[in-house]
Amino acid sequence: MAQPMRFMLNHIETESYGAFTPQNLSPLINRAIPHTRAQISGSPVVAVGRGSSGRTFFGVNVELPGLPLDHSIHAEQFLLANLALHFEQKLECIAISTNGNYFQEPCGHCCQLLHKIRDMSDTKILLTNPTGQKGTYMNLSTFLPQGLISQANVPRLLERNFNCIELINHSLYMDICSYSEHCNHLNCRALKAATISYAPDSKCPSGVALIDHRGKVYSGGYMESVAHNTSLGPVQAALVDFVANGDGQEFKNIVEAVLVEKKCGVLSQEATARMILEKIADPDCIFRVLHCK
Ligand SMILES: [Zn+2]
Ligand SMILES: [Zn+2]
Repeated sequence: MAQPMRFMLNHIETESYGAFTPQNLSPLINRAIPHTRAQISGSPVVAVGRGSSGRTFFGVNVELPGLPLDHSIHAEQFLLANLALHFEQKLECIAISTNGNYFQEPCGHCCQLLHKIRDMSDTKILLTNPTGQKGTYMNLSTFLPQGLISQANVPRLLERNFNCIELINHSLYMDICSYSEHCNHLNCRALKAATISYAPDSKCPSGVALIDHRGKVYSGGYMESVAHNTSLGPVQAALVDFVANGDGQEFKNIVEAVLVEKKCGVLSQEATARMILEKIADPDCIFRVLHCK
């Protein structure tokens, strides 16, 4: 049984482990590896990032049982959704490792998603050679195609973003809390997640909230990537909250889910969300869609 894992360290804990070096990060990576969910590939991956607030965040790869691997959550995507959960807007440095010894660059898909954060090109990536412990740092821009580097005045991932959406069924607002970021109501949390989700190209924001059999609610919002097939869907974003804060529970303990999305958008998350939940959640999981405009 893996030791309980906290996916965010405050700035005091961050200072206590010291500089962002392979030697200091290795024990943190080793603590996180048992919390990866790589039952299909057998290849655990951990991402560690230090934010500009001085806090440290973790991401682990999560494969969804019974589903093709392209529905998986990469460790880097998990890290980004975890940053969003804690309203962290900038990453100073990032490290990716499969074993705590060797540190590698983010995968090509995730480089493009990471690039959606403002000034991310300057973020330092910790690298080692395949056997060495001595780390070097490179800028993320080194790993991006030139055409992607200079996009100035567009909204960026993790920035405070408020999509102007409105539930079509107005009677639902009777039960929506004013401050719903941490309330324990599925409708409130899914609406909030959709409101702050990131869909600059499709203009189709969406959010999902999940509840486990104990009554605890988890949520996450869609994150759209410049390379669109690496976007993080709203179910996966909510699953990041579930893995990070659900005490290691199995997905089978998810008993109800709500998706908020536009009724007539150019894309819909509904079919994918339903398919994922039918495969991984409680067989009797209730799935509802609240449409907005
Ligand atoms: Zn990746
Ligand atoms: Zn509420």
